[in-house]
Amino acid sequence: MTTPTPLPQERRLVTAIPGPRSAELQARRTAAVSAGVGATLPIYVEAAGGGVIVDIDGNSLIDLGSGIAVTNVGNSAPRVVEAVQDQVARFTHTCFMVTSYEGYVEVCEALNRLTPGDHEKRSALFNSGAEAVENAVKIARAHTKRQAVVVFEHGYHGRTNLTMAMTAKNMPYKQSFGPFANEVYRVPLSYPFHDGQSGPEAAAHAISRIDKEVGAANVAAIVIEPIAGEGGFIVPAEGFLPALVDFARDNGIVFVADEIQTGFCRTGAWFACDHEGIVPDLITTAKGIAGGLPLAAVTGRAEIMDSVHAGGLGGTYGGNPVACAAAIGAIATMEESDLVGAAQHIESVMKPRLQAIADKTGVIGEVRGRGAMIAVEIVKPGTDEPDAALTAAVAKACHTQGVVVLTAGTYGNVLRLLPPLTMPDHLLDEALTVLEEQFLALTGA
Ligand SMILES: *Cc1c(COP(=O)(O)O)cnc(C)c1O
Repeated sequence: MTTPTPLPQERRLVTAIPGPRSAELQARRTAAVSAGVGATLPIYVEAAGGGVIVDIDGNSLIDLGSGIAVTNVGNSAPRVVEAVQDQVARFTHTCFMVTSYEGYVEVCEALNRLTPGDHEKRSALFNSGAEAVENAVKIARAHTKRQAVVVFEHGYHGRTNLTMAMTAKNMPYKQSFGPFANEVYRVPLSYPFHDGQSGPEAAAHAISRIDKEVGAANVAAIVIEPIAGEGGFIVPAEGFLPALVDFARDNGIVFVADEIQTGFCRTGAWFACDHEGIVPDLITTAKGIAGGLPLAAVTGRAEIMDSVHAGGLGGTYGGNPVACAAAIGAIATMEESDLVGAAQHIESVMKPRLQAIADKTGVIGEVRGRGAMIAVEIVKPGTDEPDAALTAAVAKACHTQGVVVLTAGTYGNVLRLLPPLTMPDHLLDEALTVLEEQFLALTGA
């Protein structure tokens, strides 16, 4: 079997971005791929690993995106590659619902062990985050025999019909795709930078809305990202999440933590719920779970997970054996290489550097996030008014300089940084220097 050669860990620009070969592929793409599928950068990838992405023109870019918080263990992580190679050579698919295999069971055992709470748990595996969220709602409805689903402002839960209804932002996720699923109710999220409220105050406000507009007795599930991802890495004020968990428990509501973006060491803990010690009834995971292979899960209290009739959950590919092998390799890497510690270290490097940019330029209203999930909210100086144009300009300038960054936020004014947890220090430092230079150049600071 082939072992991948480690890529040189360097930023290296040998052509403009995009180079000629990428530009050629871009033309083929335009002729072949639906225009409805977007792309952040116009480059095409040849290889990736550690902290870099190498394009087909030979440029090596520093990766502060991790394929949207997926490659937490790095691209082509050795244990993932090995496990996948071994599995594809043995069998690629049988369908777990037809003839089962050990890898699926092993992933569920790992999830039951690693997710918050030491109660008895069960898991079920799916292909995508949206599918996991849909199944969490199905399970909560079957268990409670209720229908209403409560979600939050700035929430993102996917692009399928039910999860579009659960997602807050219209463009680009929902525009012209309605009608949306009913029995989904949106209430305010704690957003300390804008609402200035304490966690308990913001929770009381959200709970009052649930009581008055939905009726607690009708609610099957409260579904929330413990840190809003696409919404702009919004960390709710302390006490907000625990108050919602208490409200859910007191009212027989299933509390679902959508940890699809925050999970698997990303925030400097195994799961973001761990930071406030909250224990969700169900947790949805995907993205970081399997080192880049498509896999997702719902994990939760045994009595809730087992309340669904046999055959009610599943899907042709859910828990595919190759994806399961990858997850086992990825989880082993997270445990053996202390990627929780790596994410904490990345936070300790990024936050002061970003705060220094904020102080110099006056256009960063807030530096926030946890672990290797850090963002800056970009505003008109001295206000909390979003500056989406500057955000887009900074992102584009970084791309041109060989640093992959992503934007987020309901108002498009959040620059989010999601390095792989295997990012070497010297590259992280260089990427932050590039970021600072672009901020200084664009603001004239
Ligand atoms: C990405 C994401 C989803 C959807 O996952 P897909 O795999 O793209 O379907 C759902 N919830 C959160 C919090 C996400 O970040």
